Order: sequence, then C-alpha cells, then structure tokens
Amino acid sequence: MVAFDSAAILSRLAALRAGDAPTHGGRVLSYVYDSGLAEVDELAAQAVRLVQPVNGLDPTTFTSVAVMEREVIGFARELLHGADDVVGSVTTGGTESCLLAVKTARDVWRAAGGTGRARLIAPVTVHAAFHKAAHYFDLELDLVPVDPATGALDPDALIARLGPDVALAVVSAPSYPFAGLDPVEVVAAACDDAGVACHVDGCIGGWILPFWRAADGSPLPLWDFRVPGVTSVSADLHKFGYAPKGASVLLQRGRDRQRTQYFATTGWPGYPVVNPTMLGSKSAGALAASWAIVQALGARGFAELAESCRRATAALTDIISDIEGLRIVGDPVGPLLAVATDESVPEDRRVDPHHWADRAHRRGWQLQLQPGLAQADGTRLPHTTHLTITPVTEQRVDELEAALRASADEVRGVPRADASAVLGALPSGLADAPLDSETAAGLLEAIGLAGSGMRPARVSRTSSRRSSPSSRPSRRRSPSGC
Ligand SMILES: *Cc1c(COP(=O)(O)O)cnc(C)c1O
Repeated sequence: MVAFDSAAILSRLAALRAGDAPTHGGRVLSYVYDSGLAEVDELAAQAVRLVQPVNGLDPTTFTSVAVMEREVIGFARELLHGADDVVGSVTTGGTESCLLAVKTARDVWRAAGGTGRARLIAPVTVHAAFHKAAHYFDLELDLVPVDPATGALDPDALIARLGPDVALAVVSAPSYPFAGLDPVEVVAAACDDAGVACHVDGCIGGWILPFWRAADGSPLPLWDFRVPGVTSVSADLHKFGYAPKGASVLLQRGRDRQRTQYFATTGWPGYPVVNPTMLGSKSAGALAASWAIVQALGARGFAELAESCRRATAALTDIISDIEGLRIVGDPVGPLLAVATDESVPEDRRVDPHHWADRAHRRGWQLQLQPGLAQADGTRLPHTTHLTITPVTEQRVDELEAALRASADEVRGVPRADASAVLGALPSGLADAPLDSETAAGLLEAIGLAGSGMRPARVSRTSSRRSSPSSRPSRRRSPSGC
C-alpha cells in the first residue's frame, strides 16, 4: 500500500478552500443557504459520511436509499399540499428536477399524439435551467415578455400562446431574477382547459414559501398542488432545505405521468436498468443529509428559519427602498430581491446597482450581478443586483445596512459601466449559439477552469478600455447560477 500523508493533503485542500468565498456567515447573498445552525450542518455532515460508500443507483440493494427518499418525498408532498396521487423523486438539484419535468411533459405530449417539435412556454424570467432543458430535449422555447418595470407576467400573454404543440407551460414560485410569484392559478386553469401540462418551478421557493406570508400578513396566492392544473412542482433541498449541494425534489401529479419520467431497459447484456432520474450510479450523500435535516427541523424548524428570513427581508426591503437612487424591482415574494436604478430621481442622484454591488464587495459583502435583457417585444429589463436572504442575515442586518448605504453614497451619480463588464470577457451572443472549441476555451479561461487548473478563479477581467476606477468592476463574477 502506498504511504500517504493525509494531513498534508487535507491542509492543501484547506488552503484551497481558504480562497473560496465564505459559505457561512451571510456575506455571500447568493449560491449558499446558511441556516446559521452549526448543529444542523454537523448532523448533515455525519449523515453524508454514513452513506458515503452507498450507490443510490439501486434502492433495492441499498434499501436505506428507498426509505430516506420515501420519507423526504412524503414530507415534501405534505408541504406542497399534494394528495395521494402526487408522487416524486429526489434528484441531484434544481436543474435535474427542471430537466426531468420538461422531458416528462414532452413524452406525455408525444404519447397523447403530439408530433413534430414541441413548444415550451414560459415568462422570460423563467430559470435558465429551462433553456437548457429545451436545448437538451429539443423543444422550442417560447419566452413571453414580462412588464419591463416590474418583471411581472401578464397571464393572458402566456395563455394566448397555448396551442396543440405546447407540451409544457412553466411558471415560477418565485422567479429567480426578480422574485416575482407568477400567477399560477390563472395560468394553471387555462392549461388545464387546454390539456397542457403546467410546471411550477419552486426550486428556490418550494421549501420556504409554505411558511411565508405577504408583507401585510395575508396568505400568499396559491401556487402548489392545491391549484388544479398544476402537474408538477420542483423544490430544491439544497436551497431553503439547507442541505449540502446535490438535492432537490420533483413532484408529479399522477403515477402515469411520473412513469414517463423513468428510463428503463433490459435491452443490454448487463443488469436491468430502471432509472427514475438522469444519473445512473449516484451519491446518496445529499439525500441522507436532506433526510436528516428534515427529521431534525420538521415543519416547525423550517417555519422558524423562514420567519427569520422574512424579518430580515422586510428590514432590507425598507433599507434599500430608503436609499436614494435605488429601487426594488416589482413585488418580490420570498427571501430574495432584485435592485435596479431608480430612474425617477435626477441623473446625478441615481445609483447604478452594479457599481453599488462592487463597492459592497470591497466591504466584504458579495451581491450577485444580473445583466438585464432585451425582450422580444422591444422592451428591456433593467440590469440589477440580486440578494438572497438566508437565516443568518437577520443578525447582521445592521452591518449590511451600513455597507449598502455607504456603497450607494460612494457611487451615486456615477453612470453605469459598459454592459459587457457584467459578463467580463465572455463572448457576446453566447445565448443559444453552439460553442465552438475556441469560444469554449475562452469561456473556461474566463471562469478560471482552463489550463493546469492553477489559475486563480477570481482574476480581474478589467481591461484598459475602462480606465475610471468607478466604472471598473474589481472582480469577475460567475455568469450564471445562484
Ligand atoms: C436554483 C434554481 C434553479 C436551478 O437549480 P440548481 O439547483 O442550481 O440546478 C431553477 N429554478 C429556480 C427558480 C432556481 O432558483
């Protein structure tokens, strides 16, 4: 047996990790979802370790996987008010849940006689995972423009596009870019009438909106399985389920529908394959951690954490609304919001949200840049800065307030930077174009994955084109994700 020095290996890893953005403590307001409960993290870590050698591919061999999955799905079904006909799978994340929802809907549509290329309709605020799904499964992605000022979907605009070639309509609860809760009841009712499947993307909201109420204390409009016509819902455990990355649930209404999600074959000389999800061999780690967290917190624990997020979100909403030159976009529902320039004030009083985020970053707070978008109707969604609020935020609201106010004061009146700065050196027109190998290499280099892997991920992408320090982002940000 080779000798190895665990301590040295782990110390190198610890050194690498020291270069990462902080995953705990609330300084990164996207990507990470910190419950603030060290004992919950420790429980999750021990659960991961216990199942480390297990292969989640075969729950008949590794029966713990079947039990954990059944219990997690049972809890999620209750949370989302599914009746007995609602069944589900634990997937490896939001993207996989969304991919499977689309694949299922396409195959159900085909089985019902649909021919040619199916269409997927959704507001432009729908998560990019659905762009990916349409691309992978060859559906036409038909994006409905939203109100450019608020990001809100007019349900009639979406309903008008229903037709026999539509395999799926997708709405969000809430959407990632502006946290809008789409009009699920109206859209799902129209889909039901038209015989079209309707997916509710609750990836970010699914584990927290059940405990949320509107700012005035009233309950939210219905968005889950209580709404007839909703055929599937995705909800990420690795977001407000506080689990380590690699866990989400996809619930489907109806066993027959869910069977369409499966891939099964005995048409090869190896073991019979029955895969409810996209992977074959897979880790049971994030499932076990999710299961343990669900046992530990229960609905009451999730409700308490949600309440903390709600208080912090309300406080930050007041604070940001009070900062001259900035505005919160639309009517956010849940613990996330997007901040744009307030164009109702004179130009020299306006605050560019990206300059603002840049200054906040210098103060140790990482907010996420969102680039804005030209819609098909000629209107333009503003570029914004995104904040996801987690349970650790509440105890740091005062510190964050000071940083947000001081950052705004520093850049008030400074015009926006070149839009391309948001995406650093990423090639323009990236969307939907197949990547040639040169573009792909440039992209990998831009996000720090090229070459020997020794390149620090956070390289400055500033160029000589932008010379004023105030219009220069101090760092790269990942172009996507949350
Ligand atoms: C996070 C998210 C997704 C995709 O999830 P991943 O877990 O990052 O794959 C999809 N939809 C919404 C609304 C999300 O917030």
